[in-house]
Amino acid sequence: MIVVLTGGTGGAKFVDGLRQVVSAKELTIIVNTGDDLEWWGLYVSPDLDSITYVLAGVLSKERGWGVKGDTFFCLQAMGELGEPIWFHTGDRDLAVHLFRSKLLTQGKTLTEVTAEIAGKMGVQARILPMSDSRVETRVDTPVGELSFEEYFVQRWFQDPVKSVRLAGAADAEPAPGVIDAIMSASVVLLAPSNPVTSIGPILAVPGITNALKQTRAPVAAVSPIVGGAAVSGPAGILMASQALPVSIAGIAQVYREFLDILVVDTRDAQPAEELRRSGLRVHCAKTVMNTPDEKAALARQVLALVSGENAARAASDPS
Ligand code: GDP
Repeated sequence: MIVVLTGGTGGAKFVDGLRQVVSAKELTIIVNTGDDLEWWGLYVSPDLDSITYVLAGVLSKERGWGVKGDTFFCLQAMGELGEPIWFHTGDRDLAVHLFRSKLLTQGKTLTEVTAEIAGKMGVQARILPMSDSRVETRVDTPVGELSFEEYFVQRWFQDPVKSVRLAGAADAEPAPGVIDAIMSASVVLLAPSNPVTSIGPILAVPGITNALKQTRAPVAAVSPIVGGAAVSGPAGILMASQALPVSIAGIAQVYREFLDILVVDTRDAQPAEELRRSGLRVHCAKTVMNTPDEKAALARQVLALVSGENAARAASDPS
């Protein structure tokens, strides 16, 4: 079983690659829910949606979020009613938010609802929210504390970031199946997702970091930082706000407690050499994914690396 920890953009591209090269039934995807928000009275989970859509083959490639070919009639009508429309939801996307909210109101858990939506969309991979408890990523800025979507979507991540707080994380529990999946995985992969606001909230759920330390599976991460900057989005700004270097060394620092292999871009060959001296296995690959072939090629390389690691471990410890 291949277990992936992910957010919804770089992570969705990586998952798109994996689904091309392995059977969906082999995949368990543990997804960040720190970006979840209430929108027009509905429960929206942007990363769960993106991962579900990409596995269902309906994620919009142009936008990188939402359903391909979607229409926006409801958004327009809500605007005419004077409602906020900065968070764009297409009509088909909205149906998923309505359906999720209805099932949650009936008392189902986010894990159950996520599985039901995935099943109805024909997804065969297992998608797990990191937790059924509410964990909220809050970004402190000079204009006040913002939710992640307010900071990222409404205000275009233009505000200086003072700090990031993961409200509710200390009291959260991993969703059912999360710890078991990590402990019984053959490999654990950290997608090239934002280390502070996508992977960070997952690691902050009590028990998950410990499971990553204890699992016998090799843990590999793909760096979202290429050439000293994020490929897209605010990862660099957010890492700097945590006093982390915006570099592959910064990524290695966040994951140091459990990481076995870091996959970085070929552009980072020189810092990779420096990082290797610290004892970490660092592999260079073409990690910027613009086409389906590039996504599949990266997924294949990462899987080959971890299966090589598994073979080496088996040879040195036949028990
Ligand atoms: P979010 O939930 O929208 O924040 O999405 P993620 O956390 O999954 O993805 C955001 C991260 O993906 C950013 O830090 C980007 O640098 C990274 N990213 C986006 N596209 C690529 C890519 O093609 N390759 C790599 N290596 N990273 C990428």
